[in-house]
Amino acid sequence: MANRSVDLTSGQKAAIEALTHDQHPIPAPLWLARQAYLRNDELDRRLAETNPDQFWREQAALVQWEQPFDEVSRIDLPKHEWFLNGKLNASVNCIDRHVVTERRLKAALIWVGEDGNEVTYTYGRLYREVGRFANALRKLGVAKGDRVVIYMPLVPEGVVTMLACARVGAIHSVVFAGMGTQALKARINDSGAKVVVCSDYGYRRGKALPLKPAVDEAVRDIATVEHIIVHRRGSRPGDAPVELDSEREHDFYDVQDARAIHCKPELMDSEDPLFILYTSGTTGKPKGVVHATGGYLVGVTYLAKAFFQIGERDIYWSTSDIGWVVGHSFIVYGPLSIGATIFIREGVPDYPTPEVTWELCERYGVNIMFTAPTAVRMWMSHGAQAPGKYDLSRLRLLACAGEPLNPEAHRWAQQHLVGQADGLVVDNWWQTEIAAPVLGTLPTFDPRPGKVGKPMPGVDIAIVDAKGAPVPDGTGGLLVLKKPLPYMLRTVWGDHARYEQYWSALPGMYSAGDIAVKDGDGYFSVLGRADDVLNVAGHRIGTADIEASLAGHSVVAESAAIGLPDPLKGERIKVFVVLKKGIAETPALISSLKDHVRSDLGAIATPSEVEFRTSLPKTRSGKIVRRYLRAQSLGEDPGDLSTLAD
Ligand code: AMP
Repeated sequence: MANRSVDLTSGQKAAIEALTHDQHPIPAPLWLARQAYLRNDELDRRLAETNPDQFWREQAALVQWEQPFDEVSRIDLPKHEWFLNGKLNASVNCIDRHVVTERRLKAALIWVGEDGNEVTYTYGRLYREVGRFANALRKLGVAKGDRVVIYMPLVPEGVVTMLACARVGAIHSVVFAGMGTQALKARINDSGAKVVVCSDYGYRRGKALPLKPAVDEAVRDIATVEHIIVHRRGSRPGDAPVELDSEREHDFYDVQDARAIHCKPELMDSEDPLFILYTSGTTGKPKGVVHATGGYLVGVTYLAKAFFQIGERDIYWSTSDIGWVVGHSFIVYGPLSIGATIFIREGVPDYPTPEVTWELCERYGVNIMFTAPTAVRMWMSHGAQAPGKYDLSRLRLLACAGEPLNPEAHRWAQQHLVGQADGLVVDNWWQTEIAAPVLGTLPTFDPRPGKVGKPMPGVDIAIVDAKGAPVPDGTGGLLVLKKPLPYMLRTVWGDHARYEQYWSALPGMYSAGDIAVKDGDGYFSVLGRADDVLNVAGHRIGTADIEASLAGHSVVAESAAIGLPDPLKGERIKVFVVLKKGIAETPALISSLKDHVRSDLGAIATPSEVEFRTSLPKTRSGKIVRRYLRAQSLGEDPGDLSTLAD
């Protein structure tokens, strides 16, 4: 009989072993449980199990429909449709429905720059800014279904652009402004974008980083791009703006008519795409995950309340960026849909000082925060005295996602970051493809460090072996969804066959690509990826992306990228490079290879280590055995290469 067990790395085996010993939950404070949005999550879970359509019908009532849907779901896997024939507009849900209430004078968005400069948009102002820019897009010919690529740092104009696209029915595709030229080009090309909206500079660690040259290079021979709209900030205050030197370039504000504040929203079908967001897969080609308007909005609105517990009077800060799915769902659409106040800051959480985050939490009275475990570990490395110096007595909930939250960091954050408020640190698991929490810890049950938590209501999730059969509790396996969710992807842009692979690897189930384990009480832990995808500081990077970039360097014959454990970032990248004949191995070449990957893919994907080899370990059919290289790098026994199956 074929082997059914899932191939775990030694790190994953060690993590499972450690989890069985660390059994000390953190008691969830009663006061938080009492005011939780879901008072009895078990009851909701049961309703969602017994009558899923009724459950989702109730959640759909959180959203404003211009035309009611006539069917909750129609599922014919891998196809799944939600809220059929319902019509709505996401920007109306995030703005208009608040503007007609007393919320029109409430802060929708508070933005702070690295230098402490502050800008606030009330819901009323957000309505006007989005209306003006949406009208400008329409005037340039942008219509329902057109793609708009957004390459902007975390600035209010980025949020405005996303919402303006939603207003006119254009599909936005935000590309993280830290990504390099090739990554941007591939995304513009794949989406067939008609318009690119960018900023001229982003600010990071006190430096102005030019973004326009990457756009110039990326669009050079892309004929689909008709307009480039540049949000001009200058490299310093008072600077001359960057030149707009072609007919297709426009200034972000000049293109707007200040008086044109009302923009008729496009009526979108529930299943019409809202956005494409590219993520890494196991091939070098970026994967354009497509989310549908209705199901997505219902999911993020429900979970902004049910998971993040965001309420009317909260200041909510997500340290993520609009370039990631967290930024889409829980900077923009979820919190604005419920009429909350979002706090956003451009820059990194340890500049100008490692204390800046706590200083801002105190200054603005932040109540709920969403961050990545890598940030928690960074703060931890600077010691507890930093947060201890500030008044964090209002910070009651800290949600972490993106990568495993190690028990040590979890306990530290519980004590030092939310301790003053007698609050709670909660882990949550999801991914670009499923745009809101799937597993997580709610205030109604005790967090167990090292474990993400339990399924959210409506989620049917399991851990299975390589053949799709459930594995016993305490045994590692593949994380799968047995039923689709409204807030899951509908397709991969331009490559539906690639979408179908999510549901065909294990027939009838959605394969998340992660290794997980469940304990006897129903708590899940997600230990890492099962495929050739790395997770560096909470960001997914395909080994194939890095190898494809290196293949573009003139000296490289072939290469292999692997992830190695890193105390701060979770994983760091090491590459093995075979040079072309006659090329000498020099330290300068190592820098040149690193720079090449940085410029192609961005800083996150930059290898921290380059090792030259004369050949790479391969199976008989020629596949590179990255696992072998990884074991060698970790000083473990890599096994016998000649016995490896193809
Ligand atoms: P992304 O689509 O870039 O957001 O990456 C999603 C991937 O990050 C997941 O498939 C997991 O591998 C990992 N991930 C996200 N959240 C968690 C978490 N709470 N614990 C462990 N891994 C996580």
